[in-house]
Formats: sequence, structure tokens, C-alpha cells
Amino acid sequence: MTEKHTEQYEVAVVGGGAAGLSAALVLGRARRRTLVVDAGEPRNAPAAHMQGYLSRDGMAPAEFLAIGREEIARYGVELVRDRAVDVTRGGDFALALASGRHVHARRLVIATGLKDELPEVPGVAERFGKDVLHCPYCHGWEVRDQAFGVLATTPQSVHQALMVSQWSKDVTFFLHEVAESDLSDDDLRRLAAAGVKVVPGAVAGLVIEDDRLAGVRLADGTVHAREVLFVAPRAIPQTHLLEKLGAELTETPFGSYPVVDPTGLTSVPGVWAVGNAMGFSEQVVNAAAGGYRAGAFINGELLFTDLDATPKGARGTARPAATDPRTIDDPSRQ
Ligand SMILES: Cc1cc2nc3c(=O)[nH]c(=O)nc-3n(C[C@H](O)[C@H](O)[C@H](O)COP(=O)(O)OP(=O)(O)OC[C@H]3O[C@@H](n4cnc5c(N)ncnc54)[C@H](O)[C@@H]3O)c2cc1C
Repeated sequence: MTEKHTEQYEVAVVGGGAAGLSAALVLGRARRRTLVVDAGEPRNAPAAHMQGYLSRDGMAPAEFLAIGREEIARYGVELVRDRAVDVTRGGDFALALASGRHVHARRLVIATGLKDELPEVPGVAERFGKDVLHCPYCHGWEVRDQAFGVLATTPQSVHQALMVSQWSKDVTFFLHEVAESDLSDDDLRRLAAAGVKVVPGAVAGLVIEDDRLAGVRLADGTVHAREVLFVAPRAIPQTHLLEKLGAELTETPFGSYPVVDPTGLTSVPGVWAVGNAMGFSEQVVNAAAGGYRAGAFINGELLFTDLDATPKGARGTARPAATDPRTIDDPSRQ
């Protein structure tokens, strides 16, 4: 007869990008029964190369994650390709996965990243990560000195136009959805000082030739020859599990993120948030560092929680009965 088992872990990590895998690596090496639930849609998937990660500069993002998955497997960490769709909190945390599985964990790491909502200009989504870019630190060096365009979607796009002028002196700022009157005198002075050309009018689409961006077409039909277009996607942090748990969030110009302490601990005891689920500006190396820090802290916190719950004179009785998660829910063993 098949018996329904609950899968019990010490730590469940939701999200298997740089942040989640890094937390899992530390936890696995600390001999914690750890599960990573990963939907497999990392933010930088559209990019062929990952830049700026010391010792990994230029590596393909998929290769980076494949190595990370291999590394956590060495220490017994389990990874499932699934999506956590719900979470409840009782004595521990119960995660409901899209597949129908339920897992329980004493501590949670939310490493679910963020989604980039791109401006609705035809061609932008198709070229994103190639020659439609958002981050000069990620791609600026590779496209240095090319003919840049910057698509304005809010008056804050001025900042992006100014920043990218560090990588090329040929920058055209397409005002698109922003009125010239929305730019301050300081904006106009800085744009002029940086040599950025300002072009009013809505952008209607991109001109693509031989699988490369060749120009930006305005609604009036004018085409401006450009090789690269910078855009500012709207960031949508993947925080619904944190919201479900009642975590305190704070509004930023780049979305609503959890309030965390320096270890990534949220306002909900036992729940950490790392990587882009915690902050907009976490690059891959920061996300990995945040995951590491949270993993190490969780291990220490669990250790001292259990030691302090052990009755005087007893040894180790406060620890939950060890269950190897790899033996559970395996029909072949039932
Ligand atoms: C086009 C592009 C290029 C970039 N290039 C660079 C670069 O060159 N260098 C750099 O440092 N940074 C770069 N970045 C930024 C980089 O993508 C992020 O810094 C990094 O992905 C953050 O890692 P993370 O682990 O927080 O999130 P992610 O890498 O996005 O990983 C989150 C994971 O969680 C999963 N997930 C989400 N919700 C759930 C759920 N409910 N259940 C289970 N799993 C879930 C997702 O599917 C995903 O696999 C780039 C970004 C973009 C968009």
C-alpha cells in the first residue's frame, strides 16, 4: 500500500539562480538537509554571456548555473525543477509546489529573483539581451564606442542616458513617452555636458538587418541609425511567497522589496530573502554573496536554536529525527 509521506527538510530554498544555489552550497556543506525548488527561468537567460563576476567573466549564464547545480549535488542537496505556488506557516513552513508535491522546512530562503517587464515597443523583447540592453555594467564594455540609443520611459531614464555615455560618446536619447518639459534644467545641462543628443517623439519600432539592430524608427517614420538600444525594464520582484507570509515590504523606485537585516533575514522569523528577490541592484556576484551569507547564518541559527532547546543533561534530544529526504516519496521504496 502506498503511504503519503510529508517531505521534511531543514531548509527549503525557493529559486535556483546564483543566490539560491549559493545558499544551498553553504547549507549542504554544513550538512543541512536542504531542498532547492527551481522553476528554471533565471533573469539573465536572454544573455549569451555573464560579465563582471571575478574569475567567471564572460561565462555563459547556463554554464554557470549548471556548475552550481553540480556543486550542490556533491553535498547531498536535492534540487527539483518545480515552482513553489503557496506557503503556509505552522510549526514549520509548508510549501505547495505546482506539481502537487508538498514539502516542509524549518527555514526558508526566498531566492526567486525578479522579472523584467520590457517597454512595449515592437522588436524590443526579441532583441533583449542581444543589442537591446538594460545594464551598462553587464554589457557596456562589449558594445563600447558603438552608436547607442536610450529609450526614455520615465524622466529617470535621463540617468541611464548619462551613465551609458561612459561607454560611448555617440548617444541619442529618444524621449518616446517623456515630454521635454518633464526634464529639469539640471537634466538638460548634464545631457548637453555628456554630449547626448535628445530626440523628441514616440519610438514606433526597431530596424533589424542581418539579425542586428540597425536603427530606431520614430512614429513619424524617421529612422535613426543605432547599433545598440538601452531600455529600462520595469522590475517586478517575485515576492508573492513573502507577501503570503506577511513579510514587511518597502517601496523603491524599482519595485517593492522585503525589509531585511544584513544577513537577509526578513521580518518573518525563519525566512530569508536573497538576490534580486531582496534587491533590484543585486548582480550575479552580489546575489551569490548574499546567498552565501544567508546560508551560513541559517546554519548557525539552527544550531543554536537546537542547542538551546536541549534539556539540561540531555544530548541532542531536541534535534528532529533525522530523515533522509532522498528516501521519501520514492514509490519504489514503498
Ligand atoms: C539580459 C540580462 C543580462 C544580465 N547580465 C548580467 C551580467 O552580465 N552580469 C551580472 O552580474 N548580472 C547580469 N544580469 C543580472 C542577473 O540576471 C541577476 O543579477 C541575477 O540573475 C540574480 O540572481 P538571482 O539568483 O537573484 O535570480 P535569478 O537568477 O533570476 O534566479 C531566480 C530563480 O528562481 C526561480 N523562481 C522564481 N520564482 C519561483 C518559484 N515560485 N518557485 C521556484 N522557483 C522560482 C526562477 O525561475 C529562477 O530560476 C543580467 C540581467 C539581464 C536581464
